Amino acid sequence: MIVDVHAHLGWDYTFDEDFTREDLLEKMGRYDVDVQIVQPGTCHTIEQVAKQHDAIADLCRAFPGRFHGMANPSPHLPEAVYRDEVRRCIAELGFIAIKLHPLAFGVNPGSQAGRRAFEAAREWNVPLMVHTGAGIPFSSPVNLIPLALEYAELRIVMAHCGHIVFANEAAAVFERCPQVYGDTSWSPGHLLRAWSRTHGPRLMLGTDHADNTGTELAKIRTVGLTPAEQHAILEGTASAVFSL
Ligand SMILES: [Zn+2]
Repeated sequence: MIVDVHAHLGWDYTFDEDFTREDLLEKMGRYDVDVQIVQPGTCHTIEQVAKQHDAIADLCRAFPGRFHGMANPSPHLPEAVYRDEVRRCIAELGFIAIKLHPLAFGVNPGSQAGRRAFEAAREWNVPLMVHTGAGIPFSSPVNLIPLALEYAELRIVMAHCGHIVFANEAAAVFERCPQVYGDTSWSPGHLLRAWSRTHGPRLMLGTDHADNTGTELAKIRTVGLTPAEQHAILEGTASAVFSL
């Protein structure tokens, strides 16, 4: 089985990118991806993000077991609105995780707004994915160390593992925080191999963009990872962390 923990559906109002249902389905079929965890594009109003969350729920209903939702309302929405949209996504739409994007929303993970995502993930007992890498200082991976220690029961997934440039910081987070994981998107194969051996099974396939699907799979399959290491990245770790 192949599980992709980082996919998007909808228009991204920060990055002007259109993530379409057709692209997701086409790449999923072409590369035999079995399950995708799908989050909206960056939306800045509750109306925009609720519509995209509903579209993700429609996709999950149309293909049972193939798609799961990840909620991503702006942490800068009024607190009650943020909390209620997370509740709606998890309790009513069946979503299984929450996303926090420090770059797209201009939010420091440790700020009052950033902490809303950590509090919500704790309240609903779901994994929290946090973008890391581009967007310094808020997206610096090491910002997660004090939060991971404070929210020690949370499963946290570093999207992009620092985007290469901050790979050393991602390694420091893996070293310090046993409940922090990472997705493979935009990270070089030799680092995935090194981290698999230094930190154990903490990595999971993340494409971020449907166009990356073939590239990400080829990277994982051709960089000298053992079959067991590949299995952990492609299925095992994601199944455990997201309780699939
Ligand atoms: Zn993304």
